[in-house]
Amino acid sequence: MKRIIALILITVTLLSFTSCQEKANPYDYRDDDSLTAYFFDVGQADCSLLLFPDDTVMLIDCGNRADGRKISQFIKNLDIDTIDYLVLSHPHEDHIGGATEIFNSFEILSLCFPQIPNVANASSDLYDEVLSAANEEKSRLIPLTSGGLIVEKTNFDVTAVSPVQNCIYSDLNDYSLTLLVNCYTNTLLFTGDAEQAAEADMLKTDINLHTDILKVGHHGAETSTTEAFLKAAKPQVAVISSGKNNSYKHPHDETLLRLKNANVKTYRTDTAGTVIARCYDKGFSIETNQNINLDGN
Ligand SMILES: [Zn+2]
Repeated sequence: MKRIIALILITVTLLSFTSCQEKANPYDYRDDDSLTAYFFDVGQADCSLLLFPDDTVMLIDCGNRADGRKISQFIKNLDIDTIDYLVLSHPHEDHIGGATEIFNSFEILSLCFPQIPNVANASSDLYDEVLSAANEEKSRLIPLTSGGLIVEKTNFDVTAVSPVQNCIYSDLNDYSLTLLVNCYTNTLLFTGDAEQAAEADMLKTDINLHTDILKVGHHGAETSTTEAFLKAAKPQVAVISSGKNNSYKHPHDETLLRLKNANVKTYRTDTAGTVIARCYDKGFSIETNQNINLDGN
C-alpha cells in the first residue's frame, strides 16, 4: 500500500512539474484552441503576432530595425522556429525595419506583401534588402490585393481587404495591406498605415468590414479611422500602436474622440504596453502587459 501511495505521490509531483514547465514563460498567453494575438509595444512602430489554434504562426510587420532582435527573442522564447506567414503591410521602416533580423532568426515559409504599382515607386534599399532575404530563404512570395486569400483552415481564415485593385495613391501608406482575420466567431482587422483615401476605397468594395477588434490605422493619426470607416467596421475594441511621447503626437485627439463617440474600448501600446487578445469559440478576452516591451530603441 505504501509503495502505491509513494508511486501516486511521485506521479502527481511529476505531473505538476511538467505543467509548471509548460507555464515557465509567463509571457506565453497561448492556451488550447484559442487564437492568441499579441499587439506588441514596439514604440513608434508596428508588430503583431498571431498564433492560431492549429499552431500556424503569422507575424504582421516587425517594427523598426532596432526592434528586430527583441521581437526575434520573444518569439524564440515561445519555442517557435518557423513563421508560416510573415506579412509586411507596406514598405516603411517602422513596419519592415526588423524584417532582416526575422529572416536571420526563423524559417519563413511565406512572405505576404501588398501589390504596389510601379508608378508608386515603393522600392528602397531597405525593401530590396528584405526581398533579397526572402529570395535567399526561398520563401513563397505572395503579393496581395483586395479579395486575396492567404490561408483558410477549419477554424480560421485570413484574407486581404486592401490595397483595392487599380487604385492609385500619392502616399505609400494607402497601399497598406489590410487583413481580415476570422477565427471561430471573432474577427480582427489589421489596417497597417492605411489612411482615409484607402479606407474610402475599401468601403466601395463588397467586402464586409465588420470586426470585433480593430488594429487602428497609422498609429492613430487623424487622417485614418474616419467616421464612415468606423461605422462599417463597428469594432468593440481598438488597439493603437504608438510610441511614448512620439514626435507625431500619435494617437491624435480627433481619432480618440471618434473612437470614444463610437463606444469603442481603446487600448494604446504607449500607455498599456503590449495588448494580448485571445479569441475562443465563444467570444474573446483582452489583457495588457507592461513588461512585454520590444522597443529596441
Ligand atoms: Zn507606420
